[in-house]
Amino acid sequence: MARAYNFFAGPAVLPVPVLEQAQREMLDWESTGTSILETSHRSKEYDALHNEAIALLKELLSIPDNYKVLFLQGGASLQFAMVPMNLLPKDATADYIHTGTWSKKAIAEAKLFGNVNTAFDGETVKRTRVPRPEELKLTPGARYVHLTTNNTIEGTQFFSIPDTHGVPIVSDMSSDFLWRPFDVKPFGLIYAGAQKNCGPAGVTIVVIRDDVLAQCREDLPTMLKYATHAKENSLFNTCPCFAIYIVRNVLRYLKAQGGLGAMEAKNRKKAALIYDTIDANPSFFRAPVEKASRSVMNIVFRLPSEELEAKFVAEGKQRRMLGLKGHRSVGGIRISTYNACPPEAVDAVVGFMKEFAKANG
Ligand code: PMP
Repeated sequence: MARAYNFFAGPAVLPVPVLEQAQREMLDWESTGTSILETSHRSKEYDALHNEAIALLKELLSIPDNYKVLFLQGGASLQFAMVPMNLLPKDATADYIHTGTWSKKAIAEAKLFGNVNTAFDGETVKRTRVPRPEELKLTPGARYVHLTTNNTIEGTQFFSIPDTHGVPIVSDMSSDFLWRPFDVKPFGLIYAGAQKNCGPAGVTIVVIRDDVLAQCREDLPTMLKYATHAKENSLFNTCPCFAIYIVRNVLRYLKAQGGLGAMEAKNRKKAALIYDTIDANPSFFRAPVEKASRSVMNIVFRLPSEELEAKFVAEGKQRRMLGLKGHRSVGGIRISTYNACPPEAVDAVVGFMKEFAKANG
């Protein structure tokens, strides 16, 4: 059976070799006579896998030694709460850059714990772009500055990280973690649900700097403290072994592909093909996002009517192109082109876009 062209925003397409490996190893993993799903997280085989995943992540991103890599549960949504719970005392302030649906949710959680300064309000630009550096109203002495590097729903992305004058940046990278190499050092904490660019749902990757870890509150429930997981190498309780196994396989795959620099080139090429198709026919396709903020991961656009958008999604599905519908909160079309989305899928969807515009324009 041929694989569909998968453009879902998350959970999203995984590399075929990663899935094939899981399939091959499903009955007998590492000659244990069991699968990874059935093996103790305290076994030496699992331990090696777990540490390999951490080491690969450190290698691919050149993560310095003063950072810990954690594998947590509860999704990025739990991080919206864990970040301020651990890092924002009641009388302190954190700056939040609001650019979309997910930053709004992060802000709502932070307000439960301390003061939130909205350093940029994306509503003023209808969420059509990320802020320019001079627009940020940062608070001197803020505990941290929070931003969402890629806005999965709105289709906007940061291509440079704001200068926060030494204030640690906390970043939700759920939908663009590992799309390219980047300098980890300005970041105090990075979190990313794995289910878009790095693996399946069920594990959230957290990268936290030691000085930030040292500032975390102590008087929290054990499972909600970063310190618990850092101290126990994310093995305080039963970790999501299968999800971490798939992440490890994805990391191996990324390394074999030439690393994140090679991924960046491929990702930019895929996105450019789609944006070029949009721009070549402005009477049919309309991209709401300002050019400099256009996401390389989630490409959103509108067609002349909602009826045509529904038709596009339905016809796409008949051609085995899945996940073309924009998020239910905004409508329109969204094509997600994460690391594992093959160039053939993009060629196919671009061909379909052109044909559809010709037939319906
Ligand atoms: N942040 C971003 C940028 C997202 O795209 C998502 C999920 N779509 C979330 C947070 C929420 O993630 P989760 O469902 O893993 O809690």
